[in-house]
Parts: sequence; structure tokens; C-alpha cells
Amino acid sequence: MIEETFILTPEQAQEMERTYRVVRRSVDARQRRPHVMLSILCDEHGQLVPRDAPVPLYEPPRFQDVHSDNKGEVVIVGMGPAGLFAALRLLQDGYKPIVIERGKPISERKQDIARLNRNEGLNTESNYCFGEGGAGTFSDGKLFSRSKKKGAMQRVMEWFHHFGASEQVLYETHAHIGSDRLPSIIRNMRDRIIDCGGEVHFSTLLDSGLWRELNTKGTPTILATGHSAHDTYRMLYRDGVQMSAKGFAMGVRVEHPQILIDRLMYHLRDASQEEVERTVSLLGHASYSLVTQVKDSPSAQETRGVYSFCMCPGGHIVPAGSELNSCVVNGMSNSQRNSPYANSGIVVSLQPADYASYSKEGALGGLCMQEELERLAASHGRLPNVAPAQRLTDFVDGRLSADLPPCSYLPGIVSSRLDEWLPPVIGQSLRQGFRDFGRKYPDYLTREAVVVGVESRSSSPVRIDRDRTTWRSPSHPWLYPAG
Ligand SMILES: Cc1cc2nc3c(=O)[nH]c(=O)nc-3n(C[C@H](O)[C@H](O)[C@H](O)COP(=O)(O)OP(=O)(O)OC[C@H]3O[C@@H](n4cnc5c(N)ncnc54)[C@H](O)[C@@H]3O)c2cc1C
Repeated sequence: MIEETFILTPEQAQEMERTYRVVRRSVDARQRRPHVMLSILCDEHGQLVPRDAPVPLYEPPRFQDVHSDNKGEVVIVGMGPAGLFAALRLLQDGYKPIVIERGKPISERKQDIARLNRNEGLNTESNYCFGEGGAGTFSDGKLFSRSKKKGAMQRVMEWFHHFGASEQVLYETHAHIGSDRLPSIIRNMRDRIIDCGGEVHFSTLLDSGLWRELNTKGTPTILATGHSAHDTYRMLYRDGVQMSAKGFAMGVRVEHPQILIDRLMYHLRDASQEEVERTVSLLGHASYSLVTQVKDSPSAQETRGVYSFCMCPGGHIVPAGSELNSCVVNGMSNSQRNSPYANSGIVVSLQPADYASYSKEGALGGLCMQEELERLAASHGRLPNVAPAQRLTDFVDGRLSADLPPCSYLPGIVSSRLDEWLPPVIGQSLRQGFRDFGRKYPDYLTREAVVVGVESRSSSPVRIDRDRTTWRSPSHPWLYPAG
């Protein structure tokens, strides 16, 4: 494929996008005047290909019918993104996937989530983490990664498009689907799995009984239970599944008015409201990515990372826990990104040495630290799900907020000294981190912003080990851990 790349003003880019077949698009807002990089498909004569030319965007995936004729059955535990994509991939190769999922189908799950958002309590088996599509269904649906281990990203995008995502996911560097669009895409994936002869069983838990059965028979099983299934981790660890403690990150969510972030990131500090709106209509609401290194004490040799994570322009903060008496927040946004708020996780990297006091728990030490922080946050909020919060400037200056700004978090927030009760390794690192961010972007450090606790599930503190060549668990070779 030949392509030509252009660096354009937002207006020029919009015109080109309407006219030609775009194969890559990214916005660079680092300069005073943001610009757009567009790569356009060219034909063999070097001519730009029109947008509506009958050129296929990619080869659609083919899934085999495995009703009767198949290469064997594979059990998949968990119907999050990992489980869903594993099921579809098995269908491509002619295996029959049998998916079991502890939560409910999306339609029923939506009702449980609505109750959660009205602060009427948490269903521990049906929430933002558990149910059809896993944590992915009501996630933000940002489809990009800072990780170096990217895997088959383009194929993932093609499958998302095949199952209903807009064409933009095929070429947008920072592709985004949105929480309102994801459910129908997930349903389409489920329908295809069933149409092809796979099975999907909701409200079905991998418990000790089923685990024993699979273990005895050595049934090939893909374990895709995500990082919130603490009960499952504990059961498997007791049964000798090889796991190791790993580094992870925890912190808070911070929320600003979106207009403040738009002005900041698009260099429109003193621009008129119309100018900001015009820029946003061309480029979308601004996001940010912040990172700094801090020290535990002035004399410390080592530094630790404090960074923004899962930034959601025009989004909402949501209650993302799966256990009672705990408070966990995360962020999402709809496809239009049209809420007046910009939220982002701001997290601190932690290493196993930071949770050495839980070492008697073995590989599950980090899990225990995570749970303790979530219970602590709940004790400073109000049950069932009102979250503790503090104005950003009060967090940095170390004082209780006399009042709180408006916030997108539906169950509600209550004023609390997060700066005081967060473990020092997190609280003090965050304070230094926010000061650094404020030095780079003074308007970021504002009393209009609010810090909400706690963002504790951005990554898992434990890894279910797998052999690097066979992808099997070294302790249970019939088990394929995935995520
Ligand atoms: C609000 C929110 C926003 C997010 N935004 C983004 C984003 O924009 N971009 C991004 O890349 N990521 C985002 N994430 C993270 C993303 O959703 C997860 O990384 C992803 O869902 C992990 O996929 P997974 O399949 O490994 O696990 P999960 O999605 O956690 O799925 C695991 C599934 O296993 C089931 N399960 C667990 N235990 C058992 C058991 N014992 N028996 C049967 N079933 C079981 C669970 O019910 C669940 O459905 C977001 C997450 C949240 C909560």
C-alpha cells in the first residue's frame, strides 16, 4: 500500500478527511498552533484515493461453523476483552469455545449499574467489572496503549470495526469507541460466537467444584478472569497455580472542567469562548498525558513514577469496585465525549518492596494492600458508594476542603483529607507529582479541580505466570492464563 503523509491545519485536515481515504490520523498539540498529521492512501500512479473508492479497508475475519465439526472444545473463563477475542480466534481455527461468565448479559447488567450510580448499592456479581464484556463493556474504549508489548493491534481494530465500531478506529492514532457504543459491539461478538456454534453461559462461576473438574480432566482452559476477581486469584493460589507478585500502580482520579483542559492543551488561555469551541469542533476535546519522577525523601537514590492514566476528556468518574465496603473509582466517556468534565487517573508506581509488610501473603501481598486501601477509602467516604474527595489545591496544600466543586461522579462525593490518610508512599508522591505538573502547566493546579479516591485498579499486583513459548501455566499445563 502506498500512502502520502501531510501535516495540515485542523481546517485543511477536515477537508482532506471528507475527500480522501485516510489511513492514519494524529493530532499534535504540542506547538502553539496544533496541527494534524494525515496519511492518505495512493493508487499505483501516486494519485490520492477518493474516500468512497471501492477499495476494501481490510480483509474481513472469517469464523468457522463448529456446531458439529470441530477440532475440540476449549473452556474460556471470563467474557472480558481477552475471553471474547480468544473465543473468536478459536472459531477462526475451528475450535469450539465454551465461555463461562460469572456476571449477567449486558441488558441486565445495565440495570445493576444504574442502581449503583443512584447509590443504591453494589451487586458483587454484576457491576462495572463483572458481566458480559467484562470491564471492557462500560470502559472508555480508548484503543491505544503506551505499552511496548502491543501485539496485533491492527487486527484488534479491524475486528472492532467488523463488529460495529466506526471506520475511525482503523486509522485514528488515539482511537476511541465510547461507553455508549461498546455494548452493541460486544453483543454482536457474542451473537457471532453463538451463531458459529460456540457456547456462552452467564451467571456461571469458576468455583472450586468446577476448578476440580477441569483440573481432573485436564480440559484446555483459557483463564481470562481479569484483575478484579480477587476471590478467584485466592482460590487458584491455594490450589498451587503458579503466580508472582509484580509492580503495579495506585492513586486517585482528578477531575477538571473540560474547558480548562481545552484552553490549556490547545494553547488558548486567553482566547474567546467561540475560538475554543471552534478548535474543539475540529480537533475534539483535548486530553493530556503527564508523567514525572519523584523521590520518597530528598536523600533517596531511587525515583518513582507518578503519571496520568486513562485520561477521559468529556467523561465521567464511575464507581468501579466489585466488593462491598470498598471504594474504587475509574473513568469513562461516551463516544461524543460531551460531558463538561475531564478526568484522569493519577497513579504512583509501586514495587513489591513497597508492600513487603504483606509478605506473609506471598504473591498476593499487593492484592492485600490494594484491598486495604479500597476499604480505607470507603471508610472516609459514605457507604455504599459516596467517594472521599478534596479540591486539588487543598490536597497539595494539606487542608480539608470547606466545599467541593461540581463533579461527574454520580453516587456523590464527600470532603475528606485524602492527603492525610493515603499511605505516604502514595499521598506524598502524588503531592510532589501534582506540584511538578503545576510547574509545567500552572493552570492545571487549580481549586476548580477535585481529587477523588481511590484509583486502585489500573493494573494488577499479581501475575498468573505462563510459559513464554507455550503460553501455558507452568504449574497447570492445561491452563492458558490470558488478559
Ligand atoms: C471504567 C473503566 C474504563 C476503562 N477504560 C479503558 C480504556 O479506555 N481503554 C483500555 O484499554 N482499557 C480501559 N479499561 C480497562 C479495561 O477494561 C481492562 O483492561 C480490560 O477489560 C481487561 O480485559 P480482561 O478480559 O483481561 O478482563 P476483564 O475485562 O476484567 O474480564 C474478566 C471477566 O471475567 C469474569 N470472571 C472473573 N472471575 C470469574 C470466575 N471465577 N468465573 C467466571 N467468570 C469470571 C468477570 O466477570 C469479567 O467479565 C477501563 C476499565 C474500566 C473499569
